[in-house]
Amino acid sequence: MKAIAKTRADAGLDLIEVNEPELRPGHVKLRVLAGSVCGTDRHIDVWDAWAASRIRPPRIIGHEFCGEIIEVADDVKDRFVGQIVASESHIVDPNSDWVKRGEGHIDPDTVILGVDVDGGFAPYAVIPAQNARPIPEGYPIELACMMDALGNGVHTVMDGPVAGQTVLITGLGPIGLFAIAICKAMGAAQIVATEVSEYRIALGEKLGADHIINPMSDDAYEMCQRLAPGGFDATLEMSGHPGSLDLAIEATRQGGRVSLLGLFPDRLRFMDMNRVVMKGMRLQGIAGRRLWDTWDQMHDLIVNKGLDIEPIKTHVMPFTEYQEAFATLASGHAGKIVLRFDS
Ligand code: ZN
Repeated sequence: MKAIAKTRADAGLDLIEVNEPELRPGHVKLRVLAGSVCGTDRHIDVWDAWAASRIRPPRIIGHEFCGEIIEVADDVKDRFVGQIVASESHIVDPNSDWVKRGEGHIDPDTVILGVDVDGGFAPYAVIPAQNARPIPEGYPIELACMMDALGNGVHTVMDGPVAGQTVLITGLGPIGLFAIAICKAMGAAQIVATEVSEYRIALGEKLGADHIINPMSDDAYEMCQRLAPGGFDATLEMSGHPGSLDLAIEATRQGGRVSLLGLFPDRLRFMDMNRVVMKGMRLQGIAGRRLWDTWDQMHDLIVNKGLDIEPIKTHVMPFTEYQEAFATLASGHAGKIVLRFDS
């Protein structure tokens, strides 16, 4: 089979010919149907410092995908052939103390699909059964492949109350866009976002954000003050921009929460942490998805709350056109790009 892989410690990805992966105990084999390209895949493509320190080529990439189970190991009792499943990229030992405490999402021994072990950007993949998450019946596969990324959004949004709350989302990359849709589905009272890309501002408006501030042309502090005079109940930081964290601290109300998903490029200095102390705020880091609460919440949002993420899927192409997919992602003129592996 053909697979999208990092074959050498340098920039670029290759389409390589490899053997189909073989079923192992505790695992299922998937016929991969669709995958979505993530910022992490782009880090691996360009071979930045993080990728160089973490990835050991050759490695089949891809951690956001869905497929049909075609084989189940004998010791797996809760998955069956024909089931359509989405990938959870974080592989954890179900017997670890972290998982037993309900903190599997921050288990330091987590192994990541498509990063530490071969991923799913190929027509077939073998993954641990517990990482193959059943999706709602009839859910479109071009959306199901995004569940891992959507889960980051769900985990961030649901880190605190949302219904009836005023929410500020800083940064409208795909997870920020998901956050708008999730906040909408959960009945947030007001959704304000910040974003500099006109392309993504348009997507955010389509998803139903009440107001999107462009810090390049607007005074974001003054706008936030005007839109939420007492401060926002919650701020979801999705940009990793140091200035956005400062804005988050200023624009969130006394006793509010700031949930942090964006990764900052460097160690931060000169933050006014006294504001956090004196406002009695909560700063919460968000890693991965809660195993498996976030998946249950996602299921409920899709089935019962009408969560609509369709507008975030902006491109669909066959996986052999991965180079165009990565170039489109790099251009910034994309929401989520879906690769099809079944045609
Ligand atoms: Zn991802």
